[in-house]
Amino acid sequence: MRKRVLSFLLLVLILGILGVNPPVLHAAQIQVVTTFSILHDFVSQVGGEQVVVNSLVPAGADPHTWEPSPREASLVAKADLVVANGAGFDDWLLPLVQNAARPGVPIVLASEGLSVFEQDHDHQGHQHGHESDPHLWLSVPNAIAYVEKITAALAELSPEHSQYFTGRSKVYLQELEALDQKMLELLAEISPKNRVLVTYHNAFSYLAERYGFEVAEFLVENPEAEPSPRDLGRLVELLRNLSKPVVFTEPQLTSGTRYVQALAREVGAQVYVLYSDSLTSEVSTYVEMMEYNLQVLLEALR
Ligand SMILES: [Zn+2]
Repeated sequence: MRKRVLSFLLLVLILGILGVNPPVLHAAQIQVVTTFSILHDFVSQVGGEQVVVNSLVPAGADPHTWEPSPREASLVAKADLVVANGAGFDDWLLPLVQNAARPGVPIVLASEGLSVFEQDHDHQGHQHGHESDPHLWLSVPNAIAYVEKITAALAELSPEHSQYFTGRSKVYLQELEALDQKMLELLAEISPKNRVLVTYHNAFSYLAERYGFEVAEFLVENPEAEPSPRDLGRLVELLRNLSKPVVFTEPQLTSGTRYVQALAREVGAQVYVLYSDSLTSEVSTYVEMMEYNLQVLLEALR
């Protein structure tokens, strides 16, 4: 930090001699690297113009199957702070940080300290991937905890801007609390017999728990895996017993979509899209993503 201040002062001096106005804020901006787009949004909401944020996995891509390239290493090398999800979601980051990050650069694992759901279904067909669901952010109270953790990390890194960060964070957290209340109220209108989420990958157990969906059934544990005939058979059975059979797919999972469509055809179920792991040009913030999911759930299941 001191080194940065010194080089900043030097820049001011040079620009002063040259008679140019220095770009005051930009010289002191904190360089933050996040593993995926949803964390990028959280850091931007809190950090405002005091941070420059880069996401390693671009919006629209699948963070589970991401392969880092030299572009990612150079971003990590410039970072003052790295923010990852943890809980097994973005483990590919760790070697990248060990190889490329400057010594002592803090790494925030946003899910750390929150309770992670272990898989409690009888899914013997699943031999790949996680034993647990790492998508904690799909329950808004967990997202609130992520934002609080990010706020603390930014304030620690740049104490001179801590009031700025806590001020912005407070406004954003109020927005998240309002979103959570709205979701609780509107999703309560869905009849108990329709409260089953059948999805492609194991991403929605936190959303299900928070907003009162009894079961979050899925075809594969992790998008790297292919569903077995047995998994497909199990879900066909399940969907045939539902009064309103619906299957949800996700826009970043291109290979999964055909399994979901085949499954839906088999039982005459409707297919809807939910967002889970990535923002896109259609839903460019976390709040927009959750509002979109809320409307889809209401349309599909109410
Ligand atoms: Zn996922």
